[in-house]
Amino acid sequence: MFEALKERLESVFNTLKGKGKLSEEDVNAALREVRRALLEADVDYKVVKSLVDSIRGRCIGQEVLDSITPGQQVVAIVYEELVSLMGEDVVPFIISSKPPTLCMMVGLQGSGKTTSAVKIAKRIQNAHNPLVVACDLRRPAAIEQLKVLAQQSKVAFYGPSGGTQDVIKVAKEALAYAEDHLNDVIIFDTAGRLHVDEDLMEELSRLKDLVNPHEILLVVDAMTGQEAVKVATSFHEKLSLTGVVLSKLDGDARGGAALAIRATTQVPIKFAGVGEGIDAIELFDAKRMAQRIIG
Ligand code: GDP
Repeated sequence: MFEALKERLESVFNTLKGKGKLSEEDVNAALREVRRALLEADVDYKVVKSLVDSIRGRCIGQEVLDSITPGQQVVAIVYEELVSLMGEDVVPFIISSKPPTLCMMVGLQGSGKTTSAVKIAKRIQNAHNPLVVACDLRRPAAIEQLKVLAQQSKVAFYGPSGGTQDVIKVAKEALAYAEDHLNDVIIFDTAGRLHVDEDLMEELSRLKDLVNPHEILLVVDAMTGQEAVKVATSFHEKLSLTGVVLSKLDGDARGGAALAIRATTQVPIKFAGVGEGIDAIELFDAKRMAQRIIG
């Protein structure tokens, strides 16, 4: 991931570091290249503008220009600004002090929602007794997929027995089941659609009202770049998300979603999906991400 962006920035930085002393024009020329590289990485132009302005504001000072290693200072500033753009600190998954912890996974179909639900359950299984619940009732295949993934990962699963379409009924049953089986974290896998639509949001809102979740995690596919940011914006407007799971960061994602989601929505990215395997999930760490980009 980020390969193209990384390469472009590396070449800009090498040019800068090759110069003994930097003029304001050198910095401006470098920042024009940084700007272009970010736009090519599919980062929203407003985010790019504000990022480049912040970098410029810190670089065009005598302290940087007159320093012994101005090129390196510029690289350090770009790194710091990327970190601050993506969120300074790792924001952990919320575990309620009053169990059960309730979490809704939401997102478009194919984003990686079902996989991420099981990945998160598996991740916390050492310390907790999680239950994943199938609430994507429109596609029988989705229920089966969650069930199979959960079984493979030895995660407890609850799904409807008949062909009901009543999400609220299933959620109520799941809450009762969790109480009986002492599940202290309940993760609801919800319906996805190919596009954001009213029907989907309505169903998710009703489930939210019933469950009153501690976490509403939106799963977005990092490969979809700016589209992922748009999806995050509309889900956040309707549901007030508590976090984002950025999936498929192992692919050739250009970086747009990782760089812009936090800045655009103010919602923290909590997890990064880095592969199809059930263990392929990491806490999203802006510092580590920025290091990968800067090299
Ligand atoms: P859902 O429709 O949102 O529930 O999406 P799924 O969980 O079914 O995932 C869709 C596809 O993406 C599946 O083939 C997953 O194996 C794959 N997938 C999910 N997360 C990741 C990830 O982080 N990396 C990769 N490479 N594939 C992923």
